[in-house]
Amino acid sequence: MIFEVLILGNSSATPVYKRYPTAQLINHNQQLFLVDCGEGTQHRLVQHGIKTNKIQHIFISHLHGDHYFGLAGLLSSMNLAGRERPLTVYGPKGLKEILDMHFLYAQSTIKYPLRFIETDPEKPALLLDTKEIKVQSFPLKHRIPCTGFRFDEKEKKPNLIKEKIEELQIPVGQLAEIKNGGDYIDTAGRIFTHEELTHPTPKLRSYAFCSDTRADDSYIPFIKNVSLLYHEATFLDELKDRAEITLHTTALEAGEVAAAAQAGKLLIGHYSSRYKEFEPFLEEARSVFTNTELTVEGSSYSI
Ligand SMILES: [Zn+2]
Ligand SMILES: [Zn+2]
Repeated sequence: MIFEVLILGNSSATPVYKRYPTAQLINHNQQLFLVDCGEGTQHRLVQHGIKTNKIQHIFISHLHGDHYFGLAGLLSSMNLAGRERPLTVYGPKGLKEILDMHFLYAQSTIKYPLRFIETDPEKPALLLDTKEIKVQSFPLKHRIPCTGFRFDEKEKKPNLIKEKIEELQIPVGQLAEIKNGGDYIDTAGRIFTHEELTHPTPKLRSYAFCSDTRADDSYIPFIKNVSLLYHEATFLDELKDRAEITLHTTALEAGEVAAAAQAGKLLIGHYSSRYKEFEPFLEEARSVFTNTELTVEGSSYSI
């Protein structure tokens, strides 16, 4: 089952030639989720041939422009394209008001069902819970209210081993119980365990995005054991002072966070526009967390 993240943009603050501000598209079993929506995100979606109608949930970490200035445009274009499918936007207090103002003065009415859900910058919250996945927000430490997001696959019932079921002639009425974890005892009193009768279920995968934040212990519990962690790394450690003042993270600190959270793998991005080379970011993060990769715009990373 597909579970991957496509990096649409990983730049911060001011524009840089050929780079885009933060946005990423998560694909879980063909369910698409957009996380952050910096300027130009809809152009990036077009470039990648993504049909925006397939996106039903958009998550916005905070109200700095490099994370949401593309949203009004995207929501308007969905309207122009005749979208009818409902869309839910999760984001900080104020986001709905800002967008309503855009549409009010443009005298345009969004015709598709558009729902806003306010995120809580103080404590973790469950935002979405479907049959296959759940999404939670958690507080980060930034200059304005900001949350990270965590996507967790949900446990599925195992498939029965058809041949075994037939061989043992297990009555249909008992199959649900076996799927739920029960064993089977035949008429002769022999026990066949749940594990013997079912295929092992694949390991559950998870993805967490730590948007703009000062590296901090406070959010480690929310990203614990995550399979893939995308953490911002705005500066190299030589500019740690700057990171402290602006409430951002250095590449070294991003590596430390991944190690403390025992993440499976770390992706870093949100590089400050002052940098042209990113190899030093990788070296720095890898010095404390080996399984680190740089995000590259336009690349997908499997979770
Ligand atoms: Zn930012
Ligand atoms: Zn920010």
